[in-house]
Amino acid sequence: MKAIILLSGGLDSTIAAELMDAQGIELLALNFKTPFCLCDRKGSGSCGNYAYKVAIQLGIEFRLINAADDFLEVLKKPKYGYGSNMNPCIDCRILFFRKSKELMRDVGALFIITGEVLGQRPMSQFKRQMDIIEKEAGLEGLVVRPLSAKLLPPTIPEKMGWINRERLLNIEGRSRRIQIALAKEFGINDYPCVAGGCLLTDAGFARKVKDLITHDELNFSNIQLLKSGRYFRFSKEAKLVVGRNEKENESLAMLAREGDFVFRPLHIQGPLGIGRGFFDPNLINLSCKIVARYSDHDDKNSAEISYSMIPETEERSIIASPLDEDELKRFRV
Ligand code: SF4
Repeated sequence: MKAIILLSGGLDSTIAAELMDAQGIELLALNFKTPFCLCDRKGSGSCGNYAYKVAIQLGIEFRLINAADDFLEVLKKPKYGYGSNMNPCIDCRILFFRKSKELMRDVGALFIITGEVLGQRPMSQFKRQMDIIEKEAGLEGLVVRPLSAKLLPPTIPEKMGWINRERLLNIEGRSRRIQIALAKEFGINDYPCVAGGCLLTDAGFARKVKDLITHDELNFSNIQLLKSGRYFRFSKEAKLVVGRNEKENESLAMLAREGDFVFRPLHIQGPLGIGRGFFDPNLINLSCKIVARYSDHDDKNSAEISYSMIPETEERSIIASPLDEDELKRFRV
């Protein structure tokens, strides 16, 4: 009996995999790549890496689907709206379930397993939303949630006797106390991204994403840019991102593309800034002042900031005084 498990690499889906493995279900682990996974902030490069690691430990096959393009379409106009920030959880789950269903056919899997816990996440893990998601994905009765199964109506795999409902659990709510105890029992010591998570639930990041959507500029390249620093919006056509540390400065340097402006301090320590869009002399001046604000200054409280437009090699520079805080707030997203 084969099933697909949506494996995030977090604690809940890892335990769900263990519970199903214990019932002799042949598992195929599936993970989706989007630009918003929070776990990759710890340097793994992608949530998929954690899931892959768990799949290896469990000895199960692993697939990673890049859902970035479809996800961005969903994010622009989710049918079921956003959660507390810019997280379109219901539409996101529908997308992942639909893609899982396509894979089910290809690999001969009969149902889907998730680590979802009833009532754990407000937007997508209540019974009513779970029903909507299954229905929209065409998977009614075919999604097994081993951690909360006893609190939910029996699924087709349970009714058919493919799995034993008695050996499933009745966990509910946000506490992970029971899961942590179970992890000990299963000998799971390493669950690096306990709760999984996504940047779209972060209020600050959500503001930036909303800004891109409002300006019809939501694309992968812009998202990568705004993940790499402080974000300033000047006009419909112009924005600036300024690195907060060396790592972000390096990322910004890699992300800069033809037509972008590059701002950097000369002779002193300070950040890299990337300007994207239409920059007239006033905006170039303003960008230099913002980069100066985050740079070391000379004793006249000013800094020499260079600028150039890619691919031009000629650098010009301005002696800029740092932009004052009130002005800064006007542009900061
Ligand atoms: S938190 Fe993010 S990844 Fe998770 S369901 Fe919501 S939108 Fe999708």
